Amino acid sequence: MSEAAAIADTPRSGPPPGKEAAAHAQAGISTDVGSGDELASPQQDAPVLFLSGIERHYRQGDAVLEILKGAELAVWPGQSVALVAPSGAGKSTLLHVAGLLEYPDSGEVYIDRLATSTLSDGQRTRLRRTEVGFVYQFHHLLPEFSALENVMLPQMIRGLSRREAINRSTELLNYLGLKDRLTHRSAELSGGEQQRVAIARAVANAPRILLADEPTGNLDPRTSERVFGALTQLVRASGLAMICATHNMDIAARMDRRVTLKDGAVVELE
Ligand code: ADP
Repeated sequence: MSEAAAIADTPRSGPPPGKEAAAHAQAGISTDVGSGDELASPQQDAPVLFLSGIERHYRQGDAVLEILKGAELAVWPGQSVALVAPSGAGKSTLLHVAGLLEYPDSGEVYIDRLATSTLSDGQRTRLRRTEVGFVYQFHHLLPEFSALENVMLPQMIRGLSRREAINRSTELLNYLGLKDRLTHRSAELSGGEQQRVAIARAVANAPRILLADEPTGNLDPRTSERVFGALTQLVRASGLAMICATHNMDIAARMDRRVTLKDGAVVELE
């Protein structure tokens, strides 16, 4: 059985009640159990990512920090969403939940209309690997490996041949303006170049969703501008959906939508 078929074979959650069903209808999400082939044929008329009624709290000693309280967010293919909120508001938490790195305490994360709460850990990991890319404030590249090798690695882990991984990585790095840096060790690259390699690595497996957490927060304004330019160009060209947490209002202004977190809920700006 193929990976997509194996994931699609997993039981989905049943129709959600009341308010949640209304949110689903608004987001174009069917509450039917579905035929199971959504992953094989992505739907353009539905959000590629839908967060429904997400609750997330952390315990600190005796205190309970309620970070997300019924957060709802639908993101369509090709759409870029800026997540602008003060430090501590829960931006990283939302991205971790959306990217299946953390479980919500309640609510559902749909990826391509697939309810993820019923998946096994292995299925979540495979879905994350194929459908989601992450870019962080710090690049987390392997310093002793070349730019090319850093981008090849996730593809080889996924099972592509070395030749295929070289071709795709070269193409991506060329696209991001790093044609002359392919064989440089990542430790030898500038901050802006390292971050562009990290972007190439994040999209190496052609995910449908890119989650970026302050991707230019560690760069000077000019470099930040160049890296963000490369990022948006790539997002538009590939039809990726992106949520980008940022404090930079200039960057936020250039994205399709802006949202914030208020009292644990996602609120549209403007
Ligand atoms: P942001 O990205 O907006 O700065 P975060 O999502 O990182 O906010 O964190 C939101 C709040 O949750 C912060 O107060 C943070 O200290 C707390 N928090 C985040 N992760 C944990 C954790 N694993 N355990 C306890 N508290 C956490």
